[in-house]
Amino acid sequence: MLLTTEKLDPQMLSAKQYVDDVYEKVVKRDPHKKEFHQAVREIFNSLIPLFAKEPCYMEHSILERIVEPDRIISFRVPWVDDNGRTQVNRGYRVQFNNTIGPYKGGIRFHPTVNSSIVKFLGFEQIFKNALTGQPIGGGKGGSDFDPKGKSNGEIMRFTQSFMSELARHIGPDIDVPAGDIGVGAREIGYMFGQYKKLKGSYEAGVLTGKGLEYGGSLGRKEATGYGVVYFVQEMIKDQGFDFSGSTVIVSGSGNVSIYAIEKAQQLGANVVACSDSNGYIYDKNGIKFETVKRLKEVEGKRIKEYVLEHPEAEYVEGSSGIWSIPCDIALPCATQNEIDETSAKILVANGVKAIGEGANMPSTLEAIDVFLEGNVLFAPGKAANAGGVAVSALEMAQNSMRLSWTFEEVDKKLHEIMHNIYMRSMNAAEDYGYPGNLVIGSNIAGFKKVADAMIAQGVI
Ligand code: NAP
Repeated sequence: MLLTTEKLDPQMLSAKQYVDDVYEKVVKRDPHKKEFHQAVREIFNSLIPLFAKEPCYMEHSILERIVEPDRIISFRVPWVDDNGRTQVNRGYRVQFNNTIGPYKGGIRFHPTVNSSIVKFLGFEQIFKNALTGQPIGGGKGGSDFDPKGKSNGEIMRFTQSFMSELARHIGPDIDVPAGDIGVGAREIGYMFGQYKKLKGSYEAGVLTGKGLEYGGSLGRKEATGYGVVYFVQEMIKDQGFDFSGSTVIVSGSGNVSIYAIEKAQQLGANVVACSDSNGYIYDKNGIKFETVKRLKEVEGKRIKEYVLEHPEAEYVEGSSGIWSIPCDIALPCATQNEIDETSAKILVANGVKAIGEGANMPSTLEAIDVFLEGNVLFAPGKAANAGGVAVSALEMAQNSMRLSWTFEEVDKKLHEIMHNIYMRSMNAAEDYGYPGNLVIGSNIAGFKKVADAMIAQGVI
């Protein structure tokens, strides 16, 4: 994170030594959890300037405590496929930290899900949720179930079985899951139905991302994608440019990507490419948003089908090639580690001016350093994609008041929240000696809020 040892004063060096020691213990305790180590390393490095200035956090052993989840639940999920065979997947819920509110974080269904992935996501969620300014703790969950190619009946039976175990661990004041990769409104609906049946009571606030007919919030579906664009808008405005007239690349074509594309286009950007895990499309005159939305959100098709309707566009097999397209702004909105050092160098060589992370941890640590060294404006996911969880918290607020706000009301609040997250991150970066570094700023701002609350609540 551009904290080179030769520049560090004695306080910084001793803070760095402390952070390195705790990090070593984390790796020793969980030697195989690579993604978790990566998330921990990024946050730990960012906190060195804070610990150097305010050693009380070291004295209270906050780092040692915060890196250990309150609990990790792992469970069997048996279900019957369409051929009558019993299949078994593994489910997880990591309840990381509830110091400032009930655990809150999505559920991911994807074959790559394992305890390292849910731990990294849950750990990041603590700081992201704190940054939103709302009273929500950090958690995450999921399963290695692969929804691709499954019938609606199979999805429902799997999801109900998943909830049969999860239900005993969650509740509106305990832990409030939502969607993530592979979990959208349909899966949330099946989970909510099963939870209600098991509990025998109607607890709307137990899940967010619900359908509008039964307690969902207008604007939740759009929130993460719109929020990323609002955040990047704040960041680039300070440097005197805008989405209007900029060439933009958005990776993925799922929930976050679709609404990032829509908002960027509404602001006048030329969005020329998007992808799925098989490949990417390049439409130099601008992607036709309605086609992408229909193909992916309604018909569940592959992105390559786009070129059948728009033969002027190109489809290229292999998703990582998307980063070789010259652009002003890149919005990685697909998955973790989708931009490595090589892709980052190509983006910089092609003149990219700003990166906004819609996905969680889409850039490797090496890629982030390439962006920072190349003076590319960099909006880390923890801050830039917090709009989704922020509107989830607004959904919880509406549920407890038994009210529904209009789309415009929710969108206005989202806009304000993204502005506030940007300001909190910028101010913290400035206060701790790294002006403009949003990685350091967002990590310090999120950490400080939780750490202060932990100190106030004693050793528990
Ligand atoms: P989603 O609706 O399931 O979409 C994921 C998209 O990414 C799909 O188009 C998928 O393609 C594509 N993809 C997966 N791996 C890829 C790869 N290696 N290269 C290119 N494309 C790839 O999931 P989502 O909700 O949009 O979430 C996307 C990211 O945002 C995740 O990191 C998630 O944790 C993060 N996030 C989501 C929210 C939210 O509110 N949903 C909030 C904060 C952060 P296939 O169809 O081929 O798999």
